[in-house]
Amino acid sequence: MATKKEETSNAQPAGSRITAITELSRKEFISRAKKLSKPYRVTSDKKFKLKDFPTNVDNDLGKEGKPLAQQALQLGVQALSEMQDKLYAQDKWSLLLIFQAMDAAGKDGAIKHVMSGINPQGCHVSSFKAPNNEELDHDYLWRCMKQLPERGRIGIFNRSYYEEVLVVRVHEGILKAQKLPEKLLTENIWDERLNDMRNFESYLNRNGILVVKFFLNVSKKEQKRRFIERIDKPEKNWKFSAGDVEERKYWKQYMVAYEEMIKKTATEKSPWYVIPADNKPYARIVIASAIISALDSMKLKYPDVGPEQLAELQRLKLELLAEKA
Ligand code: ATP
Ligand code: MG
Repeated sequence: MATKKEETSNAQPAGSRITAITELSRKEFISRAKKLSKPYRVTSDKKFKLKDFPTNVDNDLGKEGKPLAQQALQLGVQALSEMQDKLYAQDKWSLLLIFQAMDAAGKDGAIKHVMSGINPQGCHVSSFKAPNNEELDHDYLWRCMKQLPERGRIGIFNRSYYEEVLVVRVHEGILKAQKLPEKLLTENIWDERLNDMRNFESYLNRNGILVVKFFLNVSKKEQKRRFIERIDKPEKNWKFSAGDVEERKYWKQYMVAYEEMIKKTATEKSPWYVIPADNKPYARIVIASAIISALDSMKLKYPDVGPEQLAELQRLKLELLAEKA
């Protein structure tokens, strides 16, 4: 786990770091992706503090940096697309990507950009809003279980069961409306839920579903700027909701809940990435890099074709070539 301090001490100017990425060979590119995302990776609960992680890195991408960032992201997306092809062909592992964040942190944009080169057949995005009546009649994992990715696929959760220890924790009235037996509503409920989530992810992992979680760490100041932009720009008005301003008043409580969530559910096999989200181009590169690292850990390759199958393929080719029409 890296701290803000370590991050700045390793710092190179964004421009040079990104130029370097665009010049690398494929193998080096993957190793660089791992290196780039590692400082934001959290795998254990020891001493985790949200405030040690930056909300902004390399704010000076500037005019020169933006096209470079786009180029680096394009390369990342291309690498992702190649890896996804192997994941699909191999049909054994699957990848679940979970995105959590405060409003306007850039979840939607990150998902759109990072997954833009991916074959839609191999990828499924699910968004989780406040549960409807049918969903409230079940345990909270029920609706998420139904959306888990099939083997060979990438599943994306835009919000997830983690809302059960975030919005539900911040507004206890929501918990009361969950129709749980009163006996179960104790002060231990958050710890119990966090434990269950951690165990659920171990279960998924033992079934070949790799879970990677992203917290888009936006600052309160940047959120305000983005809300004002949503009000000022007519094409962004639709994104603005009055409720978001209300939720912002609970910022502190949310940060406590996020910190606890990451601390209790980050593991080596199902890590959290705390992504500096004030700078969107940089955030997207880090997210793509983390996904590349996860896919690389699966050691994906196209299924082997044995000598008999190869001979059969050659025989069929000759048959096709011999056709008259
Ligand atoms: P945008 O960034 O576009 O606003 P969004 O993900 O915030 O996207 P919304 O439709 O605004 O989408 O909000 C979904 C809302 O549903 C969030 O406020 C979230 O906290 C809430 N929600 C999700 N899961 C639960 C849950 N289990 N219980 C209560 N509320 C939930
Ligand atoms: Mg919202």
